[in-house]
Amino acid sequence: MSQQSPRELAEGDPFGAATLPYGVFSPADAPDRRRIGVRYGDRVLDASAAAAAHGSAHADLLDRPTLNPLLAAGRPVWQAVRAEVRGWLDDGPLLPLEDVTLHLPFEVADYVDFYASEHHATNVGRIFRPDSEPLTPNWKHLPIGYHGRAGTVVVSGTDVVRPQGQRKAPGDAVPSFGPSLRLDIEAEVGFVVGTPAPANTPVALGDFREHVFGVCLVNDWSARDVQAWEYVPLGPFLGKSFATSVSAWITPLDAFDEARTAPPERTYPLLPYLDDSAAEPGGIDLRIEVTINGETVSRPPFASMYWTAAQQLAHMTVNGASLRTGDFFASGTVSGPEPDQRGCLLELTEGKGPYLADGDVVTLTAWAPGPGGARIGLGEVTGRVVPDRGAATP
Ligand code: MN
Repeated sequence: MSQQSPRELAEGDPFGAATLPYGVFSPADAPDRRRIGVRYGDRVLDASAAAAAHGSAHADLLDRPTLNPLLAAGRPVWQAVRAEVRGWLDDGPLLPLEDVTLHLPFEVADYVDFYASEHHATNVGRIFRPDSEPLTPNWKHLPIGYHGRAGTVVVSGTDVVRPQGQRKAPGDAVPSFGPSLRLDIEAEVGFVVGTPAPANTPVALGDFREHVFGVCLVNDWSARDVQAWEYVPLGPFLGKSFATSVSAWITPLDAFDEARTAPPERTYPLLPYLDDSAAEPGGIDLRIEVTINGETVSRPPFASMYWTAAQQLAHMTVNGASLRTGDFFASGTVSGPEPDQRGCLLELTEGKGPYLADGDVVTLTAWAPGPGGARIGLGEVTGRVVPDRGAATP
């Protein structure tokens, strides 16, 4: 490059021209004026204003308070807009991140959470069910998941009120009610559905990129004491439904082309709709870092996940269920084989705690290898635990 432009970023900035995630922002002085922006370094490109100035055919899709219309527009439009955005970096309006308010970037339709890390499932199985096999007999034949609560998905930066509920310690004769004493995190990766699919048209592994728009970090806050008492036999419920935090930025799948990687070798042959042995590599080499109050507690490797997002989407729709724009599914806790790669405190402390204290700030960040040595950053997901609501016992 012959001339240094003030718009160029520092070497190695994970939010350069190869990343370009989408979010919804409003200027700090006009909170009702939500529109779509693209992160570039530590600034936000006002994509709506840039599109209007350039006479883009997609200006209307970008002048919206949510990403959903862009999500619904389909992959050819996603690719066209991404190419246009690259061109707008030269002269489009850039606002410092600290001068804007970031909002939940999309309206969540349905939310599903999976359980795709063999290391996590094995560790949790040992802790929650010490007298039986850690992995249930179905685990390596289908991606296990549960339906979460879409309405309590919140954007990064939202405080998390310590949940209340029924808890029963193993030595207690009866349950008690009160604030969770074992509030935990789960470091996960989420996938945002753009193109819908009608009922009874399962999404094949090879059609994943036609339907999934992008990727973000997720913290699936979990009240382990509530969860342990309630989860048998139907799975997580109130122990997780109080809050799920997501990044303010959704990074398009196309940004991860160089980071694609083969998942671990499969233990058993898979049924044809899940068999990815001949498919393009479905894993993503994302390196996650978890900090609590600024101190790194774990570095979970997403490349180690047994089930891929394409397999999860295929499984979610194989029974005939339809898919909607804004459907959101998360990977399940990402844990690697090493003790310092575990994605939740339950595993990091072998079930003994300590868990989160009021005032703790949990932040997840991640990056993936990009073209020419560039880093592809994922927008952080951060949240602070605040004291329980203090209501009287019902
Ligand atoms: Mn989870």
